[in-house]
Amino acid sequence: MLPSNEIAPGTVWLVGAGPGDPELLTRKAERLIRAADIIFYDALVGPAVLALASPTTECLSVGKRSGRHSKVQETINDLILAAAQAGRRVVRLKGGDPSIFGRSAEEAAHLSAHGIPVHICPGITAASAAAASSGVSLTLRGLARSLTFVTAHARDGEPIDLNWPALARAESTLAVYMGRAAAGEVATRLMAAGRAPSTPVLIVVNASLPTERCIRGQLSALAFLVRTISDDDPTLLLIGEAVRSSGAPDLVAACDHARPYETA
Ligand code: SAH
Repeated sequence: MLPSNEIAPGTVWLVGAGPGDPELLTRKAERLIRAADIIFYDALVGPAVLALASPTTECLSVGKRSGRHSKVQETINDLILAAAQAGRRVVRLKGGDPSIFGRSAEEAAHLSAHGIPVHICPGITAASAAAASSGVSLTLRGLARSLTFVTAHARDGEPIDLNWPALARAESTLAVYMGRAAAGEVATRLMAAGRAPSTPVLIVVNASLPTERCIRGQLSALAFLVRTISDDDPTLLLIGEAVRSSGAPDLVAACDHARPYETA
């Protein structure tokens, strides 16, 4: 537990920044952001979250976006370590939950190996935000008994290394992170492994942000459905019966939501 709203000098907090809307930060995350001397943040951490930091806090982008690595992981590890060794109160801010496709284990291991105390503050992951925005449940009694988080990010030219037969089981929901570019391959592999082409899919772009967009359709059309999404927009694919629209039949339909806040 955090004893006060302070971070001990020379320690590092890996903090989940949630999906983008600052209202979806935990109270602890907000306190840590306010208490930091220095914040290292990823590309997916938006300005509305960073705006919570004190004006005296140094905020450094160490963002990595697919295909464009602005800093390699070893450099990031060393920068965070150096800040902690200099006795600063360090927050390492990551989109969503730091434990989901966030490489937090590597950063924590590097710091621990050098004797730096590391703590983790969880965050709301993109799949939860996407489901909430679209009014669906990720599990559904009798229809979706399991939920699997996968990443469809593969090294250039290599096939995605996933257990397709296991993922093709009908009574499960798949949350695919970093899956926009590989959406066609994901759909083809799932259908080849036996998942029905009519399986509902829900694509949520910029979940929880004012620019949020939801696209509904079915698995056989997934490659087509992602075509209008730009490379830079974080995109989550949800696949399975649980995400079936309760309203009109699943045609390609964009849904619109009330915007609870405006970015600065
Ligand atoms: N730790 C993060 C995931 C990091 S991987 C989490 O728990 O959410 C980055 C991928 O997460 C993106 O490529 C996208 O697939 C997904 N993602 C993150 N934020 C998102 C958002 N606001 N809307 C949609 N997808 C998002």
